[in-house]
Amino acid sequence: MPQKTKNTPMMEQYLSIKAQYPDAFLFYRLGDFYELFHEDANQAAQILELTLTSRNRNADEPIPMCGVPHHAAQGYIDTLIEKGYKVAICEQVEDPKTTKGMVKREVVQLVTPGTVMNSKGLEAKDNNYLTAVVEEQGRFGFAYADLSTGELKVAILSDEDGVINEASALQTKEMVLGSSLSEGLKKTLQDRLNVIFSEQQSAEENAEFSFLTSELTDSLEIDVTGKLLTYLAVTQKRGLSHIQKAVEYQPDHFLKMDHYSKFNLELSQSIRTGQKKGTLLWLLDETKTAMGGRLLKQWLDRPLIQEKQIFARQEMAQSLLNAYFERADLQGALTKVYDLERLAGRVAFGNVNGRDLIQLKTSLEQVPLIRELIVGINQGEWNDLLLDLNPAEDLVELIHRAINEEAPLQITEGNVIKDDYNDTLDEYRNAMRNGKQWLAELEAKERQETGIKTLKVGFNRVFGYYIEVTKANLVNLEEGKYERKQTLANAERFITPELKEMETLILEAEEKSVDLEYQLFLEVREEVKKNIERLQKLAKTISAVDVLQAFATVSERYQYVRPTLKSNSKELHITEGRHPVVEKVLGHQEYIPNSVHMNKDNTILLITGPNMSGKSTYMRQLALTVVMAQIGCFVPAESAELPIFDQIFTRIGASDDLIAGQSTFMVEMMEANQALRHATPNSLILFDELGRGTATYDGMALAQAIIEYIHREVRAKTLFSTHYHELTVLDEELKGLKNVHVGAVEKDGEVVFLHKMMEGPADKSYGIHVAKIAGLPLPLLERAATILSALEAEGNAVTATTVEYKDEVKEETEQLSLFREVSTDELGVVDTLKKMNLLEMTPMDALNLLYELQKRI
Ligand code: ADP
Repeated sequence: MPQKTKNTPMMEQYLSIKAQYPDAFLFYRLGDFYELFHEDANQAAQILELTLTSRNRNADEPIPMCGVPHHAAQGYIDTLIEKGYKVAICEQVEDPKTTKGMVKREVVQLVTPGTVMNSKGLEAKDNNYLTAVVEEQGRFGFAYADLSTGELKVAILSDEDGVINEASALQTKEMVLGSSLSEGLKKTLQDRLNVIFSEQQSAEENAEFSFLTSELTDSLEIDVTGKLLTYLAVTQKRGLSHIQKAVEYQPDHFLKMDHYSKFNLELSQSIRTGQKKGTLLWLLDETKTAMGGRLLKQWLDRPLIQEKQIFARQEMAQSLLNAYFERADLQGALTKVYDLERLAGRVAFGNVNGRDLIQLKTSLEQVPLIRELIVGINQGEWNDLLLDLNPAEDLVELIHRAINEEAPLQITEGNVIKDDYNDTLDEYRNAMRNGKQWLAELEAKERQETGIKTLKVGFNRVFGYYIEVTKANLVNLEEGKYERKQTLANAERFITPELKEMETLILEAEEKSVDLEYQLFLEVREEVKKNIERLQKLAKTISAVDVLQAFATVSERYQYVRPTLKSNSKELHITEGRHPVVEKVLGHQEYIPNSVHMNKDNTILLITGPNMSGKSTYMRQLALTVVMAQIGCFVPAESAELPIFDQIFTRIGASDDLIAGQSTFMVEMMEANQALRHATPNSLILFDELGRGTATYDGMALAQAIIEYIHREVRAKTLFSTHYHELTVLDEELKGLKNVHVGAVEKDGEVVFLHKMMEGPADKSYGIHVAKIAGLPLPLLERAATILSALEAEGNAVTATTVEYKDEVKEETEQLSLFREVSTDELGVVDTLKKMNLLEMTPMDALNLLYELQKRI
């Protein structure tokens, strides 16, 4: 029987460390490589396309193994993280040269998708949010942090939808679970966001964490934030001094849009490609800094609902819009500002080098100019922002004095610290420089004394300093003075006591100066670290300035106007509005502007018109205009007066997403349900062709019932497009509903969509019209017209308002019986008729039965 191979001590060490990180790839440092073993090796070899080898190949059970060189590890780690895996980095924590036996090893960091700090995958203009959730009696504590910027926020959410909305808005890739979540919620999060779950059931008690949560009042918030921070501490194993105090937020304090709506409106992600291009964010993003880019995305995710706040942003954007030259200078200065927020994070993390500090300095050097420009245009609207727009002159001065402008990437090889910064360092450097001078003089002296013109003084790493003489010249050397050091093919290298002494001096000075430089660099870094909070404030302020200048730039370039916004107003008037993204793509000339007018007596617009005529563009145009207005930007229109909306709901399909079938219709109904349940009179609802996913009458019935319900119960401002022409009669009964349609004309035998909204319903025989232009036979067209009128006679929409909705109905919408007109079937009339045996009935029987039946109906 073959004996089971005993593990080597190294393998024992590996296995015991691996046992602590079962769900991560363990990168185990062995010399210049990170090695992976066992199942990790099998999987990683496949994912990373590495060669799979094995350790102790000749044993009975060879151990699968693969490895990556440590200097190239980052790329491999990035790939694994991007694919949603975790990587535990295990280093040698003792110097192998000075250790006897096994070198001690420890995991120094667990890299996870939610905690990446310096990967290529970390997009400059995207945040990378780690989120955490704890559920307690139906309430959800929800916290999120961006480790790279130090942002930390927390909220209480009232239901699972809230969790899905927040997680989707943040596009989190990793969620820390502090309690169990329902399987349904987990599945939705995974399907939608591809999120990975990590567990953290307990929260660490420590002074730093209590400080970070000190402004929170709700114990659930403190709990979830504690778990998030603990997870960060456990995985990162280092100082988190750049994490900012947890800020409580309430999703209700912003314009609410559920994930369907954000997705449908393509605010920051295109439906087709999932990319930024073609979205509102893409259009608005004229920011010059990465942090400005991130802030813009945050603003878009959370438009404001407070009149004062919106007005304040408008005022600042306006002042920049008016100041063309200052804005240009401002943009110039912003372009030179690096990612202060992430630099601050990396300072705290301890992975900045000399070049990073120079970037920090260059960024800070722009602040006085930025400040001066803002002060120059300030008429009060910038007062708040100016408070935090302070150049950290002391830091600039420190870095300027200490750090070499051309510092190398490495911080351990010298050349990082400038001359004149530290006396001792200067002494070492002098010794080195003098030494070199001395060597040059030695060469001249030796040449003269020996008469050998080719004599050289040189240096190499192995042998140190030497005097080199070609073999032909050896006879000219004084006996006994030169000690042989190395023999080359046609030369000999020597050392003299004098040279040896100088060598020691120079080498010592070199070593000491490198060590000292490293120490000095760490000191400078510590000093910068003390200023992290100040830098973070400054970063926030500069980001805001950047976003506001982007608003001004875009508004000027595309001729947007400043909207007037009023809380609780019922008036909505957009004159000659445009869809900003479609306009940008088509060009200003090509886009046909359209107005929208609504007020308290007119809350629903029913839009009819043929496919591809511009119905959904019109609806999106309104929603985007509202979002732009509520983030404080100007809007694409001649003039705009808007109420402040509390929520936007949409059901808008791309024109080609007519994937038939149950699931599409189900999604449609779920989205409709969201709106019907949560909308208020201050909300905006956009329903595009609702009901088309099911059979004609079924869909039409639902569409009508939904419109009626909104009209009577919800009272939100609603745009409803439909191809059910029958619904246009609803305006007779529903006073708040108005018909509009998209105009089309016949031109040179072709139908031309005017993309222009007009009052009243669309021409109902539009399809027959097109068929006529297409040249179909006349008798056929006549027949179609006859069928149409017959259908119309039958299929008219049920007169509206036959349904009385009670208050409780709102709670139980799904049980709503849409048409309480009782069907004959239900009464058994048809059944009875079917079962009747006429052959066996007397005329009297028949008459009696008829009487019976008549009574029933
Ligand atoms: P519908 O919803 O009626 O099917 P869309 O709104 O999808 O139609 O519009 C179809 C196409 O018509 C759009 O892709 C756009 O290029 C063009 N379009 C829509 N509205 C306008 C407009 N106001 N001006 C110019 N082109 C428009």
